[in-house]
Amino acid sequence: MHVPFSHDLRGGGADRLRRSGGASDVDGAKRLASGLPAVVTAEEIGGVALFAAVGEAERERLSRVVADITLVAGEYAAHEGDERALFAVLDGRIEPIKRVDGIERVVGERHPGDIFGEVPIVLGTVFPVGFRAAETSRIIRIEPHDYHAVAAVAPDVVKEIGRLAAHRMSGLRGLQGIAAEPPPPRAIVVGHRWDAASTELRRFLDRNQITTRSLTPDTPDAAERWGGPLPVEEDWPAIRVVNGKTVVRPQLRRVAELLGLGTEPEAAEYDAVIVGAGPAGLAAAVYGASEGLHTIAIEREAPGGQAGTSSRIENYLGFPSGVSGDELASRALQQARRLGAEILVTRSITRIDASTHDVHLDGGDVLAARTIILASGVSWRHLSIDGIDRLAGKGISYGAARGEAWNVHGVPVHIVGAGNSAGQAALFYATHARHVTILTRGEELENTMSRYLIDQLATRPNIDVMFGTEVAAVHGEVSLEAIDVRDRGTNETTRVESGGLFIFVGADAETAWLPSEIALDHHGYVLTGPDIRAEARWKLDRDPYLLETSVPGVFAAGDVRSGPVKRVAAAVGEGSMAIAFVHQYLKDGLPRLNRVRRRRIDVEARPQQIEDEEALPARHLRMST
Ligand SMILES: Cc1cc2nc3c(=O)[nH]c(=O)nc-3n(C[C@H](O)[C@H](O)[C@H](O)COP(=O)(O)OP(=O)(O)OC[C@H]3O[C@@H](n4cnc5c(N)ncnc54)[C@H](O)[C@@H]3O)c2cc1C
Repeated sequence: MHVPFSHDLRGGGADRLRRSGGASDVDGAKRLASGLPAVVTAEEIGGVALFAAVGEAERERLSRVVADITLVAGEYAAHEGDERALFAVLDGRIEPIKRVDGIERVVGERHPGDIFGEVPIVLGTVFPVGFRAAETSRIIRIEPHDYHAVAAVAPDVVKEIGRLAAHRMSGLRGLQGIAAEPPPPRAIVVGHRWDAASTELRRFLDRNQITTRSLTPDTPDAAERWGGPLPVEEDWPAIRVVNGKTVVRPQLRRVAELLGLGTEPEAAEYDAVIVGAGPAGLAAAVYGASEGLHTIAIEREAPGGQAGTSSRIENYLGFPSGVSGDELASRALQQARRLGAEILVTRSITRIDASTHDVHLDGGDVLAARTIILASGVSWRHLSIDGIDRLAGKGISYGAARGEAWNVHGVPVHIVGAGNSAGQAALFYATHARHVTILTRGEELENTMSRYLIDQLATRPNIDVMFGTEVAAVHGEVSLEAIDVRDRGTNETTRVESGGLFIFVGADAETAWLPSEIALDHHGYVLTGPDIRAEARWKLDRDPYLLETSVPGVFAAGDVRSGPVKRVAAAVGEGSMAIAFVHQYLKDGLPRLNRVRRRRIDVEARPQQIEDEEALPARHLRMST
């Protein structure tokens, strides 16, 4: 019988798994370490209410095919989204868990004799909630075809399971009630709509998938929604997090700390330190942690990288109707953390020492790394037009985030660029803005944009493309109000109203901070593998591994790597491949463990004011070794 190996632990190792097949007792009956019997009997199956009236022969048959699973507290029988199966509790207690915005909520209990999984079995869907052991529990898992074999000869079972499923779905305490209940926001932000710091804060929260209620001076009942008098305007933006702590004019690092997003490394030394948590970095984190490497990914902004800003990725394998970048990022992040990788946000890697593999973080922490994976991707190229920096965050953005839609509701917006990212953004904003105009210097989209996007753009009546054009100037006092569009053929300039300008004019690898020992191509992308030999930048006898840079033990994956393919799938593939090379490198015996040299951060004065509730210790970051 196949038992899916999805019964992960919340805080323990695989050694805590208990399955059938333990040592034999003196009386010959198989017993597990927990002392629970290992083989399900027909009698035990009869103890499950659903099967109480089923004939002896069917119970015998079930006892021969079901999986007998013992879970320790915190171990999952099924995760939300897992394929359907029917379970019954023999011993212990199982809790259904619903995860909203990354926060778990226990939504019921199952006791001995109860079943779970009836909703997916009846509807043919995946699990709408996860099921986790609240204490050591023994359950059975019945595969759908075995359930159907029983149901074929026991119509009462079908009726009963249908009744149970309907009961679980309906009513305030059922799935319907859970789905209808609005999740409480994890953060409330008050700030001016067009204030750059407020925009940056909202964007950061959005990129980190934090549900946020945004308040502006014109929000009706702002004080009521805030939960008291609003902070004075000089202190905006201000944020109140779910547990009531309030911070005014916060640094993003402080916000991350308040929301429990990791910001401090737990150790001083790692097998693999990953620079960046875009698709390549997250894939490396998943593979590294799952293969037993002590792995940390350090991300300066939010997990997901560029892909996290994509409104719909249509070409990533396994998502037939596409997947939004933030959902892909959120799933990958959960997966990496569940497997034991550390992921830090709001921390940048500022320097790498090629000779020691020391990795320097902003703020002075230094990590000792046996291997390093560069997965720092690319950053948007900026437009050099007068006034554009003054209006950045006030209607002008590089790239796009889904959370910015509320700012462009009902206004005309402009997208600069003709690549897939520009096409995706146009489709997304067209569902909020009055009108979307794509401005491109080129004369066609076919050379730069995928066919499926061009076809979708053509179906939207409120999207236009202006070929052979460029932005000549931007105007606005408090926020963007208009732009000048120049026709490159006639040089004629026209001023048009604009409530949002989203710029997608290509991206560059930001690699100037890397040590000179790491060889780059002419455009600043990191050279790896055979290209290193070709450039005569390799000193060892062995060949460099495919993704290895000119510094042995330092690897590059994803968009930052010199190569023509810049895609989510390629980044994910390279991130996971990099881990295979890390193993190879460590096996070669080349690594040299560094001495522990992590700097400590002293907390001394306060960069931001804490308004109410538990006042936090005054902080000032000062380095000491
Ligand atoms: C809007 C948009 C839509 C897209 N749509 C698609 C699509 O539909 N299909 C597709 O295949 N591809 C798509 N792409 C391309 C795809 O997103 C990229 O190829 C992919 O994200 C590259 O992954 P990466 O991990 O290599 O780099 P990135 O995604 O760029 O991630 C790198 C990460 O490293 C971080 N970082 C950089 N420097 C440091 C540092 N010094 N310290 C700490 N962190 C650092 C960055 O903040 C970033 O989060 C799209 C891109 C964009 C922008």
